Amino acid sequence: MSEEREGMQLTVKEPLIFELSSPGRRGVRLGPLDVPEEPLDALIPAEALRDEGPGILGVAEVDVVRHFVKLSQMNHGVDTGFYPLGSCTMKYNPKVNENVARLPGFANLHPYQPDATVQGALQLLHETEEYLCEIAGMERATLQPAAGAHGELAGIMLIRAYHEDRGEDRDVIIIPDSAHGTNPATAAMAGYRTVEVPSDERGSVDVEALRAIVDENVAGLMLTNPNTLGVFDQNILEIAEIIHGVGGLLYYDGANANAILGYSRPGDMGFDIVHFNLHKTFGTPHGGGGPGSGPIAVVPHLVPFLPAPLVDRGEDGYFLNYDLSKSIGQVRAFTGNFGVVLKAYAYIRSHGADGLKAVSADAVLNANYLMNALKAYYDLPFDRTCMHEFVLSGRKQKREHGVTTFDIAKALLDYGIHPPTVYFPLIVEEALMIEPTETESRETLDEFIDAMIQIATDAEEDPESLHEAPLYTPVRRLDESAAARAPVVCWAPRGDADAAGE
Ligand SMILES: *Cc1c(COP(=O)(O)O)cnc(C)c1O
Repeated sequence: MSEEREGMQLTVKEPLIFELSSPGRRGVRLGPLDVPEEPLDALIPAEALRDEGPGILGVAEVDVVRHFVKLSQMNHGVDTGFYPLGSCTMKYNPKVNENVARLPGFANLHPYQPDATVQGALQLLHETEEYLCEIAGMERATLQPAAGAHGELAGIMLIRAYHEDRGEDRDVIIIPDSAHGTNPATAAMAGYRTVEVPSDERGSVDVEALRAIVDENVAGLMLTNPNTLGVFDQNILEIAEIIHGVGGLLYYDGANANAILGYSRPGDMGFDIVHFNLHKTFGTPHGGGGPGSGPIAVVPHLVPFLPAPLVDRGEDGYFLNYDLSKSIGQVRAFTGNFGVVLKAYAYIRSHGADGLKAVSADAVLNANYLMNALKAYYDLPFDRTCMHEFVLSGRKQKREHGVTTFDIAKALLDYGIHPPTVYFPLIVEEALMIEPTETESRETLDEFIDAMIQIATDAEEDPESLHEAPLYTPVRRLDESAAARAPVVCWAPRGDADAAGE
């Protein structure tokens, strides 16, 4: 391990696995060959054979295990600490769901098996769809989309198919200025012009501004409610009336449904399409880089446009129904990420209706607890009861002490806490968007409060120390844009820097 302070400011350098390699060392030893040995070129054409061996590493098993465990400990994860990332629900998920998803009876299924041999799996898909429709207040749902943004795209394609079917040519999707970035990106990707509607001083959609921009070119509105300020838009019925009044549809971004489970249903708010992030709300970790699932649920008159197949029940049991008259077609192979749906099923069944309500009650309680404890120390631009998250502003610290939200985020790392979402939503200066989630204890919330108060105090008394943070993490301040735009992902033996892309 070496100290490096220039450039990327690495403080700890764990050797690469390649650098641990020693010729002849082995992790496993295979038994003697028990089939006749044939010359390689009898099996593989000579021109396809490599000239040199593949350079397989020589690392003992124990060193491999230590290496990767060490690397995993250099990262912050929801299993190692508090992770209050707003608008992205990084919560703990019960590990029992992972066991359920790995049951061999499910995990070893093949998607081409005849329906008659997979009745249990089909029943599970069908029932999960029913639960999600009940939670959303919708008629039917597709489980195909593989992520939230993918659900959005499928939903906007449904909006297009619906209008085209009615012989209407509409080209505008309206999106509030507080929207999650995927919303305008999705609308643009689906070929729509996006028009932004501003928020009012309470953080809700400015209804009069909305009224002024709608016309018969509006295909739909995309809205998150509660929005990314963590604010529930109480004018939602009026908003729905305005959009429906010009023939548009309402799309509900339900990525963070843990704010409303069992308390309010997008269908009852007047929405026509809803997506859920199963990998935020329903039992699959978000942000682990693994598979996700973004089902969309729709009102009755949009059902014929859903991606085929749906899982239906007939006289001979459950079957994959491809007979949707106006289907936009399939948006993903087979029935989507089955394992993720399976975890959502286990999560919903193990909580039950009352348990899901408790999830939302706790998520909202925890957020309000933090908000009220911190608003004496940081500006709170929209000071009203929040839902699952809230947005502070670091503008006071910046103006008075030159300490930015970026400094505050980095300082939290030294307390073993992942920073909240920062500089988003865009409508809040120096934003700190905090979502504690329902799975954290009072003690953890209090630790976070203490850390935030200490940082506010440090900003007043010793602002320089915050420009230096983090001090105690494996790496210090990284060049985040270079890490994203010019990552070095190849390794080459020393002296061969060209091959490493350096
Ligand atoms: C996470 C999120 C999305 C996108 O979900 P992905 O699965 O990351 O594509 C969309 N909207 C909101 C409000 C979100 O929080």
